[in-house]
Amino acid sequence: MLLPLPFPCPLDYAAPPALADSLPPGAIVSVPLGGRRETGVVWDQTPLPPDLTPPPPPEIADSRLRAVSTLVDAPPMPEMLRRFIDWVAAYTLAPPGMVLAMALRPHLLGTQAGPRSGWAAAPTLPEGLRMTPARRSVLAALEEESPLSGAELARRAGVGAAVIRGLADAGALLAALLGPIAPFAAPNPDHNPPVLSGAQDVAATALRALTREHRFSATLLEGVTGSGKTEIYLEAVAECIAAGRQALVLLPEIALSAQWMERFARRFGVTPATWHSEIGQRARRLTWNAVGDGSAGVVVGARSALFLPFRDLGLIIVDEEHETTFKQEEGVTYNARDMAVVRARLANAPVILASATPSLETLNNVETGRYGHLVLPSRHGGAAMPTTRLIDMRMAPPPRGRFLSPALIDEIGSTLARGEQAMLFLNRRGYAPLTLCRACGQRMECPHCTSWLVEHRKRKILCCHHCDYRQPIPETCPQCGAEHSLTAIGPGIERITEEAEETFPNARVLVMASDTVGGPAAIAEAVERIAQRDIDLIVGTQIVAKGWHFPHLTTVGVVDADLGLGGADLRAGERTIQLLHQVAGRAGRAEAPGRVLLQSYAPEHPVMEALVSGDFRTFMEEEARQRQPGFWPPFGRLAALIVSSENPEAALDTARRLGRAAPEAPGIEVLGPAPAPLGLLRGRHRHRLLLRTRRAIAVQPILRQWLAKVKISAGVRVDLDVDPVSF
Ligand code: ADP
Ligand code: ZN
Repeated sequence: MLLPLPFPCPLDYAAPPALADSLPPGAIVSVPLGGRRETGVVWDQTPLPPDLTPPPPPEIADSRLRAVSTLVDAPPMPEMLRRFIDWVAAYTLAPPGMVLAMALRPHLLGTQAGPRSGWAAAPTLPEGLRMTPARRSVLAALEEESPLSGAELARRAGVGAAVIRGLADAGALLAALLGPIAPFAAPNPDHNPPVLSGAQDVAATALRALTREHRFSATLLEGVTGSGKTEIYLEAVAECIAAGRQALVLLPEIALSAQWMERFARRFGVTPATWHSEIGQRARRLTWNAVGDGSAGVVVGARSALFLPFRDLGLIIVDEEHETTFKQEEGVTYNARDMAVVRARLANAPVILASATPSLETLNNVETGRYGHLVLPSRHGGAAMPTTRLIDMRMAPPPRGRFLSPALIDEIGSTLARGEQAMLFLNRRGYAPLTLCRACGQRMECPHCTSWLVEHRKRKILCCHHCDYRQPIPETCPQCGAEHSLTAIGPGIERITEEAEETFPNARVLVMASDTVGGPAAIAEAVERIAQRDIDLIVGTQIVAKGWHFPHLTTVGVVDADLGLGGADLRAGERTIQLLHQVAGRAGRAEAPGRVLLQSYAPEHPVMEALVSGDFRTFMEEEARQRQPGFWPPFGRLAALIVSSENPEAALDTARRLGRAAPEAPGIEVLGPAPAPLGLLRGRHRHRLLLRTRRAIAVQPILRQWLAKVKISAGVRVDLDVDPVSF
């Protein structure tokens, strides 16, 4: 019996005679544990690869076993999903029960809800109703769908519960009974197929053939932004639906995918089932069951959708496969991109990885022949790729406290004068990343993290972006007591907005950052306003880099192209190029040609040169050449051990003892202990050890043996991260 708890292995239970015939592997049951009841799954362990096989659990005498209490009224968990859970647990070295918990979540949170009430708009609005943008957004959400539950309405409108209560009190909303959530209509593969260009047709034909075969294959679908990758993989989805099997599409930021959903609906006539952390409990149950009985034909989801109980999974797509959001960093640390490949292998299904800027891991898998490769060389419909130009900030730095160069201001000015849209990109929320006392040099730092406090001027706070600690902006320096001496250093998105509004007083400016636009509905509305040309200048953080289609946007200015390159992370170059290429891809997606301007203090950096030339491939080859001799991923394997404790001595002591017990063998190296990249995080002191092995050597058995040798002090935690995304 596997329980969704951090035990190292499944537990044994007796089958009571009444249930003896109804407890096949996969059955979901309720069992006693201590004084409580737990939901668990009847488990059968099948052999894993030898490297991944955990040690056998201790035997318990039959007479001491407790009995299963009841069978839960739910379809049994399919064999394929059970194997996948075993695999993920063995690979990440997480307790299998914690992986099961991700798959069982709908059954762990409360019981089936009965009919509930929600809100609908009153047939006529009360006279004299005061309208605010928030209220308007609530009424607009109800125009799209009504009735909606309070929580769903708040989410779609991007408002708090108080706004809804206010409208209800004013008589503008009426309580309404919610019916069952509509079951998932079947997508129609013949609804609205596209006419494909030559290269698109070649790629689509190949993917359709792979999808028909129903055996494992992995394929990289590579193509510049706007080349039609989405269009093409949807053809594979169509083939999968036509074959009567289910398809899973993983998107890096599902909550920001309104445009994607519309596209899906245009192609297949219905919206797909969606799966992510923000869907409500009812929808979650319904979707889980519909995936289990096969009535949900296509699921679009975040990484956790990998743990849905597909009845007949025939295809997996990982869109923007290079995105680091596919890596879950809390709890079970797994990379959904890699686990999607495992899931596909277990399901005998093809997996398609799509990207304009594939990760070095995936490129290496192509190189070595493990993955197939399909390329869309140019943008669809003859749209040109944007031209990219560097602005050398050393030549003409802006005045102090200013961050836009004359060249960039010029270019944006003429873009706006032509009636086109422009965008300023800076991947940093808030007003300024550092607040400093001019009198004594004191920096405002988070008390719980190795991190500066970021000023958010609109909200009048200093905030830690790692732990969310907040404090008001002090009037006097907490160190020396000087008055009004605290100064904002460097730009954040709020500060750039301020400068942009001063520089272009007639432009209609829209700020898009995760903490300013609110929920997915508000983001969708912002995107809509951009498409309707209600906006001239967009100022945004990385949420503007997502796959948006902004047809009138022609000029993109990157305020600080060097931003991601600081620090010691070996992957910084790869990540910066992926992000900036994605940002650049927003420009010139329709008729008018696009241009991208990169402000840089290091214009000769290979990342900048690659962005200007568009020669992403040569850059990645150079990256590969640099990582190869040291056996850094993907040429070797890597695992990180993060040793943390609130007690600094205890953390350091355990880290040192781990260091002394480090495995020694040819092809194996241990680096550290050294202070972790965030030496203090949420009040915990952190040290890191890195285990690096040759590709042929699996890290899991080494880690298991290593940890068994060292006693972890009380209050110390060792978190394992197999295949860390930063190193
Ligand atoms: P990518 O995923 O590579 O960025 P998309 O699939 O989003 O590219 O395509 C870019 C734009 O071109 C979209 O608006 C898409 O609808 C359009 N497009 C691509 N291929 C075709 C086609 N064959 N017929 C019609 N429109 C297409
Ligand atoms: Zn903090």
